[in-house]
Amino acid sequence: MRYFDTHCHLNHESFAEDLTEVLQRASDGRVQAIVVPGWDVDSSRKAVQMAEEFPNLLAAVGIHPTECNERTIAAEEIVEIEQLALHPKVVAIGEIGLDYFHDATHQQEQSELLCQMLEIAEKLAKPVLLHSRASMEDMMGLLLSRKMRENPGILHAYEGNLEQAIRLSKAGYSFGVGGQLTYKNSLLKHEVFRVIPSERIVLETDAPYLSPVPQRGKRNEPAFLPFVGRYLAELRDQSEEELLERIYQNSTKIFL
Ligand SMILES: [Zn+2]
Repeated sequence: MRYFDTHCHLNHESFAEDLTEVLQRASDGRVQAIVVPGWDVDSSRKAVQMAEEFPNLLAAVGIHPTECNERTIAAEEIVEIEQLALHPKVVAIGEIGLDYFHDATHQQEQSELLCQMLEIAEKLAKPVLLHSRASMEDMMGLLLSRKMRENPGILHAYEGNLEQAIRLSKAGYSFGVGGQLTYKNSLLKHEVFRVIPSERIVLETDAPYLSPVPQRGKRNEPAFLPFVGRYLAELRDQSEEELLERIYQNSTKIFL
């Protein structure tokens, strides 16, 4: 079995001390490729540098919606993201999106930023890594009104319902699932990921956050991805090996 971590913030400060060990454990656990997304210009630049240094790392560059809650995004930042996105190891624009969960007062700014990021993705023909929290209706409206590429991208940490998943999957979108799936109270995720087509599923850690059971509460890392894969196969009553190979190939189809 092999794994593709489609969303992992190895550029986060919590990995500064022991990145080499984390990467070693990932490859011991057969995590063969890892996408490192940025959330602002600095973290995006760092993702690109890391992808240059380590062959199995890929970068995504973008500005996270919650940045709009803190400050006004400057035009130069958008330009810089676009320039970084030209690097050959940048495989996606992300993470980008809408987040009304903690603060819903900057919806307009978030939506403008998301549109600018989607335009970069369209222009460069790259997929997107989308974050949507407490904003699924607006997200769907935005995504379904645009003409995107054939594999337009991933709804990372997908929290929508099944009906929304079906509509988005018809438009070509895929759904990222990670440690939260293994939590007992994730009933909606269980319902959705039990039935959506395996062709539309990808795995992600979202490290350092959201460690799966039995590592819940610790810093998450790519080596924990097999816990999610096993849980998903059991949930779907499918052969773990076949499902995980399918999912690996879904990921390469989107990014490579
Ligand atoms: Zn993330």
